[in-house]
Amino acid sequence: MERNDAWVTLPDGERIAKLGLGTWEMGERRSAREAEIAALREGIELGMTVVDTAEMYGDGATETLLGEALAGLREKVFLVSKVYPHNASRRGVVASCDASLARLKTDRLDLYLLHWPGTIPLEETVEGFELLLRAGKIRHWGVSNFDVDEMDALFAAGGTACAANQILYNVARRGPEFDLLPWMRARKMPAMAYSPIDHMRLPQGSVLDDIARARGVSSVSIALAWVLEQPGVCAIPKAGNIEHMRENRRALDIRLTDDERARIDARFKPPRSKRALEML
Ligand code: NAP
Repeated sequence: MERNDAWVTLPDGERIAKLGLGTWEMGERRSAREAEIAALREGIELGMTVVDTAEMYGDGATETLLGEALAGLREKVFLVSKVYPHNASRRGVVASCDASLARLKTDRLDLYLLHWPGTIPLEETVEGFELLLRAGKIRHWGVSNFDVDEMDALFAAGGTACAANQILYNVARRGPEFDLLPWMRARKMPAMAYSPIDHMRLPQGSVLDDIARARGVSSVSIALAWVLEQPGVCAIPKAGNIEHMRENRRALDIRLTDDERARIDARFKPPRSKRALEML
């Protein structure tokens, strides 16, 4: 298989980095603050420029930390944040976005996502996103944790401008390959794979370790390299220190062989039927 390049393309043709970074659980411990800011800045300098956060993380503390970490780097970054479903009314979306922008010390988000499907009518949420687009406060909008039926409902509610869907996807959770990823690829909509190393719950002693040992890299790198090879998928691993960040960046340079891919498929089987989208 030909290796994808280091980018994925949004429906409007804009390219974003295939390997970005996550921030969940950052900014919550004073003792970790310095290392987290250093890790984020290192990741961005290494080209992991899609930076994901949410108003939910640390009740805003994560966005505040990120605002500090982005000093002087904002223009390099494709900045993503998310609105809580219960805040996703027409006016609520705008208020949440304004609060996120203030914490992030920026005047715009590159992508604003509905964090997961909620009970507020999607028409309202889409209207709120459109207001923000017109005001120049966001450049794109999208969703997260939407399965195929929810994507259909979004499109039926007028949400065809959705730029991305952020989902739980990694070598051990391949359900989206059955129907969701094909649905999105048909519409040229990238998936943002969250928990791409499964929040460090990947099984020990598996084929990932064998391949990693033979290559002299870590099994985390192999798991990440596998996600990065999937077409139309970008990944946002979270790393809380510079060493982990550098190691994750190296995954972009790993090209799995056909034999390695087959061994991974034998252990982590692709889905043969519909599996409900999992959420962390
Ligand atoms: P993840 O990226 O799969 O795993 C993060 C864990 O892996 C952390 O414990 C981290 O520890 C560790 N780690 C990272 N690189 C490592 C390395 N090279 N070697 C060893 N350990 C390493 O899981 P995640 O944080 O759940 O997902 C990533 C991002 O996706 C989140 O931060 C968030 O931005 C987003 N997310 C979105 C949703 C959603 O509903 N939309 C849900 C979950 C996550 P250290 O911190 O010690 O490096």
